[in-house]
Amino acid sequence: MSSSPATPPFHVAIIGCGVTGLLLAIGLRARGVPFTVYERAVGISEFGAGIGLSPNAEVAMKLLDPAIHAAFKEAVTPNGLDYFQWIDGYTTNEQIFQLYLGKDGFQGGRRSEILGAWAALVNPVSVQFGKELVALVDSSPDQPVPEPEPEPDAEPGPVRLHFADGTTAAADVVIGADGVWSKTRSLLFGDAYRATYSHHYCFRAVVPMADAVAAIGQERSSTRFMYNGPGAHAITYPVAKGAMLNVLVVISDPDPWRPDVTGNAVAGIDASPKSTITNTEATAPSLLPSQDTAVANRQTTGRGRREDAEKAFGGWCLGAQGIVSLLPKQPDRWAIFDMLEHPVPSYSRGRVALAGDAAHASGPHLGAGAAFGIEDALALATVLDAVHKNSSTSSTGRNPKISAALDAYNRLRYNHTQWLIKASREAVDLFHWKDPARGQGWPGFGDAITRRFHTIWNYDLEKMQEEVLFLYEAALTGASK
Ligand SMILES: Cc1cc2nc3c(=O)[nH]c(=O)nc-3n(C[C@H](O)[C@H](O)[C@H](O)COP(=O)(O)OP(=O)(O)OC[C@H]3O[C@@H](n4cnc5c(N)ncnc54)[C@H](O)[C@@H]3O)c2cc1C
Repeated sequence: MSSSPATPPFHVAIIGCGVTGLLLAIGLRARGVPFTVYERAVGISEFGAGIGLSPNAEVAMKLLDPAIHAAFKEAVTPNGLDYFQWIDGYTTNEQIFQLYLGKDGFQGGRRSEILGAWAALVNPVSVQFGKELVALVDSSPDQPVPEPEPEPDAEPGPVRLHFADGTTAAADVVIGADGVWSKTRSLLFGDAYRATYSHHYCFRAVVPMADAVAAIGQERSSTRFMYNGPGAHAITYPVAKGAMLNVLVVISDPDPWRPDVTGNAVAGIDASPKSTITNTEATAPSLLPSQDTAVANRQTTGRGRREDAEKAFGGWCLGAQGIVSLLPKQPDRWAIFDMLEHPVPSYSRGRVALAGDAAHASGPHLGAGAAFGIEDALALATVLDAVHKNSSTSSTGRNPKISAALDAYNRLRYNHTQWLIKASREAVDLFHWKDPARGQGWPGFGDAITRRFHTIWNYDLEKMQEEVLFLYEAALTGASK
């Protein structure tokens, strides 16, 4: 049956063009599902720090669109060995454990290079920059499963999006992939569900390989290592085709987050105007600690002092101290926020869903935050493709199908992604020898860490695609009985 000219085309709005939003866009494009990405920034912007993507992320890339995976492989840098190696950085500077990554697995690259390679896969016309979402209006009934089909003329209109520049847009479905400080999340559920300081911060730097080799030697610069010890850990891996070493130093911090430790001005990363319209009736009271004005202003990055890292690693072996010596005097300092304390109750409501960090921001300690955003993108692309096919010839009953699809996505993704937030906190405690009995030489370390990584890496993504479609179809069938 051919599409009637009166049928408005199905359209997806994606808020945010980070890893999650961008890969969802490419996945929808590959399936012929119409979409527009609305991004607050003036271009696709990622800084040059490194990121490694785990084996499950690679499978998700291939299933979204093989071109995503091919571009990723072009951009990343091979590890010297297909093993993740852990070093006792405090007492011996020797390896305590290694874990097989799979052939050419868990490779890293500079974020700017990987995002740049993926950005080339999306039609620029589909991405609108300088569009900061400030409000949403969804007039459809807030039902997780379809209501009995209404008369065609009773269909609510599309979801309306309002941007900070005063413009508006409309879409059948909205996916908020707008990061840890998600506006979409706060519009859907209120500000009570938000990220909090995990009491860890990190320094990030990308340093010339020659400097790295001089400081820690050829072998330690050539592949992925982590150094563990009391209250801190460091990760290094090669990027930029081996020309640079990515350095990430993570430090436990008992204090509240203070972005300004150098006396320099600190950039706030979100100055969104307050929204005036939401589809929620009332928002829950804010649980934000009143002391934390830096958090209220979303000032989670700033300049730090290398001397703080030197203090944290004081008394450690020379290997770990060599890594700290690679940091600039005032390195970039990042607070690690996650959603453990105030998890959002659902990743969907009506025709709006959350994905990536917007839904489940976690610490980076298992190297899987972006990977889980890519998995979300795969689940959404799969189920939205089904909705598109089901409703391309008629817009009648389209809204309940969308709600059913997003509810299926939520039910499938919620537990696994919430688990990651907790598992990341547990992992950093292991790396930081928080329980001294589980520190240096703890025989259970290998098993404890393998279990968590394998839960991430071995997640069956083809089964996930089948399940999201099954849940969606079951909701539709159940509703029509
Ligand atoms: C130190 C560190 C190391 C990490 N290392 C790894 C790793 O090795 N592997 C891994 O898998 N993960 C890693 N992560 C996690 C990973 O970086 C994140 O999970 C991932 O980048 C989240 O992507 P996202 O697209 O969901 O959100 P973001 O990357 O935050 O993108 C959100 C986008 O939305 C835009 N936006 C925000 N608000 C609005 C609005 N109101 N309107 C329109 N647009 C908006 C933003 O400008 C941005 O472009 C690490 C994290 C940290 C902090």
